[in-house]
Amino acid sequence: MKTRSPIVSVLGHVDHGKTTLLDNIRGSTIAAKEAGGITQHIGATEIPMDVISSICGEFLERMSINEKLPGLFFIDTPGHEAFTTLRKRGGSLADLAILILDVNEGFKPQTYEALNILKSSKTPFVVAANKIDKIPGWKSVENASFTESMKQQDSDIVFKLDQKLYEIVGTLHEEGFESERFDRISNFASQITIVPISAMSGEGLTELLTMLLGLAYQYLREQLQIEENSPAEGTVLEVKEEKGLGLTIDTIIYDGLLNKDDRIMMLTKDNKVISTKIRSLLKPKPLEEIRESKTMFENTDEIVAAAGVKIVAPHVDDVVAGSPLKVANANDEKVEDELLSEVDNIRIQTNDI
Ligand code: GDP
Repeated sequence: MKTRSPIVSVLGHVDHGKTTLLDNIRGSTIAAKEAGGITQHIGATEIPMDVISSICGEFLERMSINEKLPGLFFIDTPGHEAFTTLRKRGGSLADLAILILDVNEGFKPQTYEALNILKSSKTPFVVAANKIDKIPGWKSVENASFTESMKQQDSDIVFKLDQKLYEIVGTLHEEGFESERFDRISNFASQITIVPISAMSGEGLTELLTMLLGLAYQYLREQLQIEENSPAEGTVLEVKEEKGLGLTIDTIIYDGLLNKDDRIMMLTKDNKVISTKIRSLLKPKPLEEIRESKTMFENTDEIVAAAGVKIVAPHVDDVVAGSPLKVANANDEKVEDELLSEVDNIRIQTNDI
């Protein structure tokens, strides 16, 4: 058994800051170089725990978070249709989510859609109230924690922020969730945490990452225990034409081990099961090598969850994004039945969340 990193996705209305937040999380963790590197996966970025500790140290201690997780595994592309896919064990593709919204605009149609998906998949989430730097009069303090930044603001500005936050609290209440600003929460088990942030200036990211880890410890202990040598299970993110390789599938593996000689099964758009033998498993090359070579990928013999990997295999034309993926080296019928029983779940999709 090993503990894998929780898979985190960012959901929210268009233009509310999903891409900027993901870029900033990657950027600020790259800046925390002294603590060690981040791992680039196909379709995902893994931030190791020592990097998170170097950013959030004091807050993790205050929250009494001291158990070991390898890190946080962020899916790179926001709004991917596969994010909205349910997987059979009752969760979405992600173990955790950040529901981001523009604090100045509040709830918009895609915020409600995202919330409904999180509700139906029972995915634990944190609300990021973004763009606090746009509140008139806010004095941004680059990369400061929200707690530090708030000390620099005039009291009427903090009051203005709170008014906006209470509108969000009110809407969440109407949607069936009790919520509160992170530093005023009395019961983490019954209240949704709201962290005011600026994805642009980095303010509040410290508390956002800390709260995500808090959720992981609270809800995911068992889910994150995986058997390293069991046959892999994953989800298809995207079916993609790649120059020189033909059709490839980008996948997130959330359990077990995927071997380059494995036979795998996935679903097509028509809910048929296809079985295919892997030709190669590819992961991104280190950045410095990409500059000197024609291809961005390198071969690997095996991948252990959690991981993002590109699979080259024949007969994948009709594979659908969001499909579950299972290894089927033996006992094909059993795996086929398992996949088909997931068909009902994988149709729950919405547009561009
Ligand atoms: P997405 O559609 O949800 O991925 O949103 P983007 O990350 O592309 O952001 C939409 C716009 O809002 C871009 O112009 C960003 O630069 C801007 N933006 C995002 N976050 C912030 C923020 O915290 N503060 C400010 N001032 N602008 C932001």
